[in-house]
Amino acid sequence: MLHKLSDIRLSVFFLMTLAAYTGHRASGQQPQHTADEQEILAAAERIHREAVTIDTHVDIAGAEYATERLDPGIDNPKLKCDLVKMVQGGVDAVFLAVWIGQGKRDADGYKRAYDNAITQFKAIHRLAENMYPDRCQLAVSPDGAERIIAGGKRAVTIGVENGYAIGEDLSNVRKFYDLGARYITLSHVGHNQICDSSNPSSKLGDEQSEHNGLSPFGRQVVVEMNRLGMMVDVSHISSESFQDVIDLSRAPVIASHSGCRALSDNPRNLDDRQLEALAKNGGVIQIVALDAYLKAPSPERRHAVKDLATRIGIPTGPLGARLSEATASQRRQFREGEREVDQQFPPAGLKDYVDHIDHAAKVAGIHHVGIGTDFDGGGGIRGFNDHSQARNVTVELVRRGYSEEAIKKIWGGNILRVWREAEKVAAELQ
Ligand SMILES: [Zn+2]
Repeated sequence: MLHKLSDIRLSVFFLMTLAAYTGHRASGQQPQHTADEQEILAAAERIHREAVTIDTHVDIAGAEYATERLDPGIDNPKLKCDLVKMVQGGVDAVFLAVWIGQGKRDADGYKRAYDNAITQFKAIHRLAENMYPDRCQLAVSPDGAERIIAGGKRAVTIGVENGYAIGEDLSNVRKFYDLGARYITLSHVGHNQICDSSNPSSKLGDEQSEHNGLSPFGRQVVVEMNRLGMMVDVSHISSESFQDVIDLSRAPVIASHSGCRALSDNPRNLDDRQLEALAKNGGVIQIVALDAYLKAPSPERRHAVKDLATRIGIPTGPLGARLSEATASQRRQFREGEREVDQQFPPAGLKDYVDHIDHAAKVAGIHHVGIGTDFDGGGGIRGFNDHSQARNVTVELVRRGYSEEAIKKIWGGNILRVWREAEKVAAELQ
């Protein structure tokens, strides 16, 4: 009986993974543990279906978002996160980022940043309220998100990526909250009026350090966010800023899209000391799916990517910003060229991604790690290149022996806990 069952499993496995099998045969290896593999896939499928799955960082790729020109209601080749791919990959909820690139800190710069933010808020509201109210809904609380998901819709929440958009007017924090924002990433590339960035901008004339952490205004912003129940996002900020936030914030904080510095020495990632501090704070690191943060590219790969960008005429800078400033045709050419570069010099893949989850779980603990892809802002790796492939993460976690309970925490339990804590602290403060 047992023998027969394994035989059946074996043949199903062969049918399902013909391509992989051919690969094994070509390299002279035989596939092993096929019965185990089937059990892993079945367990992952069930856990993924039951889990509340939340991605805390997806960009909306510009002002055309949620129009006919950039429609998130179809399986859109221009988007790694759309409503079709979310359903395909079993992703229940997403924080869409209102992203504002850092600019000059003068009245004109602040006005532009604020207006840009409002345009993007409108786009996200248009998606949920006008275009597809039958398929998704804006979630402004963790309870609300769970209700929306239980009702069979995708929950859409908003994060503001770069506190620059607040300008010097503290009341804008409340305005953004009222528009649905539930976290603010304090800075992006370049120091701002709130704090120092992990990546000073030479273009903006930044020194390595300006405030040496949070500015006096930045401290007011964190206090106001605590009061309102908005999560403070420490991705993109300098390690001094991180420490100031940890010391000041009354509520647990999030790193909405970062990796582990011990595995990839990039200033965008958190080192072990920071992971320990985050755990003590009760917060969570949401692991980013951006190859350069997961695995430092080899000098050869870096060179090839730079050559490609130069050839197409894309300005240099961080990949997300670089691509968002490029034209559609440049982006297409870049993606095409990138495929050739990938074959020559493979970038990070799913296993590297889950290595970062492993590391964060080991250092900070299983209650302090989650998922924040940065799709449509530079994120996307082999095996987890868009939301339709989200199940692969669960498969890899099951394969590595993570329990059902642990996987559910990673996919959504932890961020919901932090969000609830932020609400609780706000209720106490108000
Ligand atoms: Zn970012």
